[in-house]
Amino acid sequence: MFADRVLSGMRPTGSLHLGHYHGVLKNWLTLQQKYECLFFVADWHALTTHYDAPEIIEQNTWNMVIDWLAAGVDPSQATLFIQSKVPAHAELYLLLSMITPLGWLERVPTYKDQQEKLTEKDLSTYGFLGYPLLQSADILIYRANLVPVGEDQAPHLEFTREISRRFNHIFGKEPGFEEKASQAIKKLGSKKSRLYRELRNRYQEHGDENALAEARSLLEEQQNLNTGDRERLFGYLEGGGRIILSEPETLLTKASKMPGLDGQKMSKSYGNTIGLREDADSVRKKIRTMPTDPARIRRSDPGDPAKCPVWQFHLLYSPDEVRDWVQQGCTTAGIGCLECKQPVIESILAEQAPILERARMYEEDPALMRNIVADGCEKANRLAEETMRDVREALGLSYL
Ligand code: SF4
Repeated sequence: MFADRVLSGMRPTGSLHLGHYHGVLKNWLTLQQKYECLFFVADWHALTTHYDAPEIIEQNTWNMVIDWLAAGVDPSQATLFIQSKVPAHAELYLLLSMITPLGWLERVPTYKDQQEKLTEKDLSTYGFLGYPLLQSADILIYRANLVPVGEDQAPHLEFTREISRRFNHIFGKEPGFEEKASQAIKKLGSKKSRLYRELRNRYQEHGDENALAEARSLLEEQQNLNTGDRERLFGYLEGGGRIILSEPETLLTKASKMPGLDGQKMSKSYGNTIGLREDADSVRKKIRTMPTDPARIRRSDPGDPAKCPVWQFHLLYSPDEVRDWVQQGCTTAGIGCLECKQPVIESILAEQAPILERARMYEEDPALMRNIVADGCEKANRLAEETMRDVREALGLSYL
């Protein structure tokens, strides 16, 4: 019932590395060409776990936006903004909290997981418990129907869907709903009104899903309906009330294949990362000192690439002929490990070159980036307000 819209955010808790590039940013670059995209810096989310280190937020925020732009996120295709600059996120979060059963939050799998993992932090806080609800508000406020998530985040999205259903169920039943729906049907014009009623009957009396789909597309085509009437007619079709908050769908993304320097997944918490904009000498040094197959103690010992983290990098970066050369050379001790690592170093430096080039432009003129973000915040505020008008009205809060 609303236009396709993608929402995705990142917490500014540290500088981005190649794992972020391969796992998230490259996906964003594809999405921005297909859909309306909103990408945001989740600075309030960062505070849920880093409330004791507010000094990191601002610097990381600007660095992260530079990383996004440098990676190729295009502000003419996507809207870039900062969560805390759109205060309506907090308003919706608060309003949703009124109807969120505590048990729903406690059951979100990451809640206990993270508390157990991050033992050095005290996460027995209200903010941390409410983290998935804030995430729901982020999504629902833009009526974003497409949310790219990895499999581990899918329960969060399901939670958001439940919240939106609950909200619509409680607040979508406005007084005089039937009468208002009838008035809205009339606005479709006589032919389409008749068709709408016919399709609604077919769906409600016979469970005809095709009729429901046809009725929905009929409504989607209508230009002359305001949002309130549109919500009513979508809700009326299914026998419910207004659909004020839309249910998002998961855009499942493949888990990043980016290996870390030690062969585990690349992650800041494992200390095995290569920065997106790390300088060339440091990249060379990190790759050269990477562990290899422990069986290759001497240059003359043959090895097995399957037991070597460097091979994971070849799988990601190297063409077949280089991989064949590694297989052959490693298993026969025909090449040394430093030799084997050289093509990886070159591939990483080649990948970083255009990123560094674009980043330089924003580093030299930060106003350029800040203007992009200011424009993005303005647009995000406008979009959020469209939803909040309906939300406030439904909750009896639109006094003025
Ligand atoms: S030759 Fe390459 S694949 Fe083999 S152990 Fe050394 S670095 Fe690893």
